[in-house]
Amino acid sequence: MTTNPTSLIVTFGEMLIDFVPDVAGVSLAESGGFIKAPGGAPANVACAISKLGGKSAFIGKVGDDEFGHMLVDILKKNGVNSEGVCYDPHARTALAFVTLKKNGEREFMFYRNPSADMLLKESELNMGLLKQAKVFHYGSISLISEPCRSAHLTAMKAAREAGILLSYDPNVRLPLWPSSDSARDGIKSIWKDADFIKVSDDEVAFLTQGDPEKEDVVLSLWHDRLKLLVVTDGEKGCRYFAKGFKGRVPGFSVKAVDTTGAGDAFVGSFLLSVAKDTSIFDKEEKLREALAFANACGAICTTQKGAIPALPSTSDALALVKSKAN
Ligand code: ADP
Repeated sequence: MTTNPTSLIVTFGEMLIDFVPDVAGVSLAESGGFIKAPGGAPANVACAISKLGGKSAFIGKVGDDEFGHMLVDILKKNGVNSEGVCYDPHARTALAFVTLKKNGEREFMFYRNPSADMLLKESELNMGLLKQAKVFHYGSISLISEPCRSAHLTAMKAAREAGILLSYDPNVRLPLWPSSDSARDGIKSIWKDADFIKVSDDEVAFLTQGDPEKEDVVLSLWHDRLKLLVVTDGEKGCRYFAKGFKGRVPGFSVKAVDTTGAGDAFVGSFLLSVAKDTSIFDKEEKLREALAFANACGAICTTQKGAIPALPSTSDALALVKSKAN
């Protein structure tokens, strides 16, 4: 067993600005104004960890522009180590215009032609920082194009060689890939390297083209070096599949106003539990406790607009767990 409350978690990938309509339920074209919100799942995860009192660092690239500097300030204000962030003098910080229309359909428009995050090079990786990690966490958007793809693969290899746990949340964003098939292939190209994978039920459906409720469908995503596969089921909570056991941990009923970042709050909180005590992969009771706490973090994140501003503190999450002991 390894217990170290100050273990570092390093996240890798994109940080960008989301522009969200100032009124709910309109299309991008109908929107009169947009509010800017920091986004990018790996950066959100790093912020979730530090908000909960853990130690996190983010590795990625932003433009040497107002927005890039604003994002790094946000990392710093949230207590995330930003020594691994590079600035590109030529390419801009990525932008995404995002809206949830009345029919529940999400509409995205990305400005990445290319954006700075896509241009992170292998030689720019802060290996010294990376090698201090207990857990290295990443998504799949950094796999879409070179040179970032190679940098991502090199970072994973270095982490593996240093004995660091690899954590993968694919965060499927289909419009960013050339086609659905290339997304599926790209996401699966690093599947078997991870020690821990978190997917949503929708992502299981996309990756397997099967029914995500069915256990054999989920288990088709299992691989031998995996310590844990977690499927998040929105308000229903999550399911876990480990080497010796499996089960479901119910979610918390809250008044959800914006689900952006729920998965990142969930992952951040769970990785913090892993970094504190890696024996949770082998001990079901401890694992269930960590997943209940992660469900509470995900739920709280849905009760406010945006991702980073809605991330919970430990006391908020513990209060929710206690109030609705499940
Ligand atoms: P993602 O954001 O990656 O799509 P989910 O939507 O499944 O992932 O959410 C991640 C976790 O956040 C869930 O497992 C659950 O614990 C919590 N969560 C998400 N939506 C809600 C909701 N409406 N009510 C309560 N908890 C939620």
